[in-house]
Amino acid sequence: MILFIPPSEAENNPQSDWATLSAESIPRQCPDCLSDTVIGHGRRRKQAHDEHHDWIGIRRGLCKQCWKTITFLPLFSLPYTHYSLIGRSQALQRYFVQGCSPDLAVPVVKDANRVPDVSTLRRWFRSLDSAERLNRLQLLQSESSSTPRTTDFTGSSRPATSFPFLRQMVSMVADRLACGGILSHDRLALSWRTVAYFLQVLVPLRR
Ligand SMILES: [Zn+2]
Repeated sequence: MILFIPPSEAENNPQSDWATLSAESIPRQCPDCLSDTVIGHGRRRKQAHDEHHDWIGIRRGLCKQCWKTITFLPLFSLPYTHYSLIGRSQALQRYFVQGCSPDLAVPVVKDANRVPDVSTLRRWFRSLDSAERLNRLQLLQSESSSTPRTTDFTGSSRPATSFPFLRQMVSMVADRLACGGILSHDRLALSWRTVAYFLQVLVPLRR
């Protein structure tokens, strides 16, 4: 069973290391039987490449009540992925906001041998590019704002056909951040650093 460590306020601080934070303590409550009987059950390593990480430590737990083992993942590292959501956020900003070409939009990574290729970047963007996510973001936006804004298509010479929904989402995010608006979800504040996490969790993860 895979469980994400719940976000803490500390994760909004770019100075604190998200990978270390989540490896410090694990939730005691078992997601299955709901009793507070989870104990530490070893550590593993996982790739989560970005500017400050290559391999990160993750923890496993064992429920003494139902004997299920649980793998705890930090917020910014999705299961079975090699790049952190911080790295993916950087790619989103570079491509959609700064107008970088795909090969210049790849995130900075600590391990120079693990620079993602352009097809990986496209795969990330495709996974976020959905009408359903856009609707969720618009809903979240209007719920948390007394004056819902309509977003304009912000300047880009690329055809609107590449990742049209994601492009609108990023444009909404840019407007929100530009006007100093704060959008929080699960105790985590929207920023250019957390944008990929935000968009990724707006719809439940596929199982
Ligand atoms: Zn249990």
